[in-house]
Amino acid sequence: MKLFKRTNDIKEIINKFKRNNLSIGFIPTMGALHNGHLKLILECKKKCDVTVSSIFVNPTQFNDKNDFNKYPRTTEKDLEALLNTGCDILFLPSEKDIYPSENDKNYPLGALEQVFEGAFRPGHFQGVCQVVDRLFKNISPDEVFFGQKDYQQCMVINKLLKTDPSFEKINMNIVPTVRETDGLAMSSRNLRLSSEERKIAPVIYETLQKVKQNLKPGDLTNLTDEAKHRLAEAGLVPDYFSIAHAETLVQINNWNGKDPLVALVAAFLGKIRLIDNLTLTN
Ligand code: AMP
Repeated sequence: MKLFKRTNDIKEIINKFKRNNLSIGFIPTMGALHNGHLKLILECKKKCDVTVSSIFVNPTQFNDKNDFNKYPRTTEKDLEALLNTGCDILFLPSEKDIYPSENDKNYPLGALEQVFEGAFRPGHFQGVCQVVDRLFKNISPDEVFFGQKDYQQCMVINKLLKTDPSFEKINMNIVPTVRETDGLAMSSRNLRLSSEERKIAPVIYETLQKVKQNLKPGDLTNLTDEAKHRLAEAGLVPDYFSIAHAETLVQINNWNGKDPLVALVAAFLGKIRLIDNLTLTN
């Protein structure tokens, strides 16, 4: 695995690969890598000649400075994990390299950034677009790989790919959420749960599954109220537990039995905010 810290250096090697007609797959991450991230690397390796990953804890996507400061940084371990998984190139830029000047661009995300994560984390998706925009322009990937764990983020990236003509040829791959054996979605934030909290956390996935089992056409309010109640009883404080159209993320309170649905949840367990989701109609 080759490691690059500067944009100019990574651009140079990417150009060399392109001249040799090699396909480039890219997986952006914020590090503290777990098997969820590594699954994206493995999927990329199946499809592309060269697998490029990046680790950059992006300050502009954190609306809570404390969350940014406390975000786990485990670079040495990450390097080993990437090496063992067969990642070819790691980009480890500095903040100056990614943001050499003021970033004041506004990305037209419309309603997508006004709901769920967008509503509870103002500016989060603008920050995600800022960093992804810069990374994509440096790496010029053919294929990009994102986790379904961050369902709304996948939709935001799809929108970015559609609205910026320079990304026209990039193909998006959404990789299913990798879970612990007890169902908890793998997340770098799980590292910050106490052992008591860690025992409680699987209730999130259990609740999502229950909703899927009990889904029926008609009014969905009881179903989501019960889900919120179940989470609260276990000691979680939900920001939201909602059922939405799986393609538009418009909240659905009354289901016609046909629209594709996804259940989305964000909840605090102590000080740690966890998110998860489950598609309900496939
Ligand atoms: P992050 O480092 O949290 O920015 O995540 C980097 C990428 O890994 C994003 O595309 C995430 O959606 C994806 N990811 C994180 N956790 C998981 C998981 N449990 N399963 C699959 N993909 C994941």
